[in-house]
Order: sequence, then C-alpha cells, then structure tokens
Amino acid sequence: MASKRDYYNILGLSRSASAEEIKDAYRKLAMKYHPDRNKSPEAEGKFKEISEAYAVLSDPNKRRQYDMLGHAGFDQRYSPDDIFRGVDFESIFRNFGFGFGFNFEDFFSPIFGRRNLRRRIVRGRDLVYDLEISLEEAAKGAEKRIQINRVEKCETCKGTRASPGTSPRGCPKCNGAGQIQDVQRNRFSMFVRVVPCPKCQGKGEIVDSPCRKCKGTGLEERERRIAVKVPVGIDSGYQLRLRGQGEAPLEKGIPGDLYVNIYVAPHRTFKRAGDNLLYNLEIGFPQAALGTSTTVPTLDGETEVKIHHGIHPGDVIKLKGKGMPRLRRNGRGDLLVQVDISIPKNLTKKQKMLIEELAKEFKQKVNTGRRFKILGNH
Ligand SMILES: [Zn+2]
Ligand SMILES: [Zn+2]
Repeated sequence: MASKRDYYNILGLSRSASAEEIKDAYRKLAMKYHPDRNKSPEAEGKFKEISEAYAVLSDPNKRRQYDMLGHAGFDQRYSPDDIFRGVDFESIFRNFGFGFGFNFEDFFSPIFGRRNLRRRIVRGRDLVYDLEISLEEAAKGAEKRIQINRVEKCETCKGTRASPGTSPRGCPKCNGAGQIQDVQRNRFSMFVRVVPCPKCQGKGEIVDSPCRKCKGTGLEERERRIAVKVPVGIDSGYQLRLRGQGEAPLEKGIPGDLYVNIYVAPHRTFKRAGDNLLYNLEIGFPQAALGTSTTVPTLDGETEVKIHHGIHPGDVIKLKGKGMPRLRRNGRGDLLVQVDISIPKNLTKKQKMLIEELAKEFKQKVNTGRRFKILGNH
C-alpha cells in the first residue's frame, strides 16, 4: 500500500472531530464526488478514498486503532496460520459496486429521496477484496485462498460483551428495549420521538463486568483465510459475493458480505475478447503465397492450422471452440488466429538474388545492385 493519505485529511477534519462532524464531512464530500452525480474522471477514485476514510473513522473501534497505528492498523498482511473456511460463492455481479465497508443505500436514502421506513436489519460491514487470477485459472476455474482482516464476534465472550461466567442484565431504563420515547410538549402539540436509550447506548443490556479481551465491545479483529471458488469462464469486471463473510454487526444482527472483485491478468500469448481468444501468427511471404500448415498454441496445447495460399496480412482464421469457456453456459468461444506476414530485414546473397528474380518475373521494379552504404563511423 503505497503512501496512503491521512483519513482525517481526506475528510478535511482535525483529529478531535466528533462523530457528527465526521458524518457531516463525509456526507458533503460524498455528495460532491458520488459517481452518479460527478462524471469527472477522478470522481470515482475520490469517492472510494472518502468512503474508505469514513468506513474507518465512523467506527469507534477502527478509529481508535487508526489513531494508534495509522494505516498499518489496517494492512492486510499477516501470518497465514488461521482457520481455513470453505465457502461457495453465492452470486456473481457484473460491474464493481462501491460497497466499501458500510451500507451505502441506507446512508444515502435521506439524500437521494429513497426513504426507507421499514425497520432495518442490522448488518455488519461488507468487505471488498481485489483478486487477480491468470487466464488459465479463468479458463479452468480455480479455488483461491485469500487473507482478510475482519471484525468478528469476540471469541472469549461470544459477543455478549460480558466477561466469561457473567452475563449482561437487562437495562432498567428501557426495560431491555434499547430505545425510549422522548416526549416534547408545547401548548399546541406533542412530539414523540423514539431515541436510543442513553443508559445502555441502545443495546438494551448493561454489562457490569466487561470482557477483558474485547474491552466490552463484543467484537475483535481477526485474520481469516477464506476459500474463493473462481467459476470457469469468469472475466475481469465480475464480482463474487460471499454472503455472510463480511464483518460482524455492532449490535445483534447478521454479518455483512464479502465482495471479491476479479481481475484477469494479461496473458503472454493470448489476448482475450469476451469468450474469444486472439492469437497473432507470423508467417513468411512464401508461406502466405503458396499456403502451408503450421501449429498454433491453444489453452489445451498446440493444434494444427492450414493456411490457404494467397492469405493476406490481417486475415483471421477461426478455430471454433478453442476460446474461453462461457461463464455459466455451455460451450466455448473461438480462437481467432490473425495472420501477420514477416518481411525479413537482412537477406543472404542467395535470398536477395532469388527475390530479385521473382521481382523480374512479376515485372516489379525493385532496388538492385549495390547495397546502400550506411554512412557512419567505420
Ligand atoms: Zn469479549
Ligand atoms: Zn437502556
């Protein structure tokens, strides 16, 4: 991770900014750079940067960690010793979203007019991982293991926040509901608002002896190795969703999802165009003129192709079914062999003589006789 900008700088805040100020700064910047609204090329990068900063600074645990350790607190490289979990991907999405660590729609619904009155299920944060695979892996499918750092329920207290052997008790102020009614009256009307209970911070429970391991948060950050099944035929720009492999929720609820963005690395032999593969084949002029047969590489080894006489540079020979397997469909694309004709730069005496003969036969005027002397330091 090369020189990342300070999260506070990104949001234009001081280190003592309140949660409310962080939210406000984020909201303003996100409105400005949201790719739906801002079409300038740097908007998307800016937006991701802002979202990342917000994802960390809006979370009290992560913010503390960031304040202490800086970006190193979030570096995703650790010893690969943890539990390996087998996971099937559940769905594939075309195009990458911006699911950086929080529920985007929920956050924006008041701004973008999508008012959502139903009670939300509390979900943990979604995580995003960029995974590069080879063309061969895309063609044959693969099982990759990735390492992520994520917030999970504390193992010591099982997420109860109470030290082992004790348990939380119901909050007496809100009777365990986590919310209280805040009533404001004036002469003409009465406003009733439901607000989080201040005594238990909306949790409905009071912990008298907090778990030491998680300092009473019920959460801890863990390194995990996760298996990602890469489906046959996948291409760059697809996203796999591993449901429930994101972070644990702060309250009772369900974990977020893990999104894996797929990038297929460029291949040294083939270019990919959707389900088709492109290959450049160089042949000599006599081969082009008279025809030949030669071998070309494919994903499953070499195969023979026939070159008809009189082929032109740029002509394409289609090898049906030798391309990429189609994602979630039967069949394969084609291998398109594009013919290029090599013209030699340096000729032997005999080659030169023969080509001059040929030119005479074709009645084509060519440079003959002595070679041009190249002037230089001899
Ligand atoms: Zn704990
Ligand atoms: Zn309470």
